Amino acid sequence: MAKFKEAEQRKIKGIFVCKRCKAKQRTSPIKVVLKSVKCRSCGGKSFRALRKIKVSGK
Ligand SMILES: [Zn+2]
Repeated sequence: MAKFKEAEQRKIKGIFVCKRCKAKQRTSPIKVVLKSVKCRSCGGKSFRALRKIKVSGK
């Protein structure tokens, strides 16, 4: 059961949303921190975790 929880956490952590166009992008958190991730639709480099969007979007 612990394995499932871990997998779920990884799933959430692996998805980031572009701050500019809100496009979802699956990448590793390390890449986001290092800003080596580029948005496919707008080319922006600022991302945030999908979970944060859900909380602030309420
Ligand atoms: Zn974008």
